[in-house]
Amino acid sequence: MARFRCGACGRSGECEHEGESHGCPLCGSPDVVSALATEEVPDEVLAVLNSLGSDGEERDED
Ligand SMILES: [Zn+2]
Repeated sequence: MARFRCGACGRSGECEHEGESHGCPLCGSPDVVSALATEEVPDEVLAVLNSLGSDGEERDED
């Protein structure tokens, strides 16, 4: 099961297919985001993503 969140109808849930091309199973909108989200991503990966994202924005250490 793949989790998703729909930007059109605002609902979220799980869909049986994990493809990205099916859109929202509830309303059919392509404006759906797979919520492969933070809860399924290991902390180490989040740490790397966060460090990459913040690089350049937090350079006031000195
Ligand atoms: Zn929808």
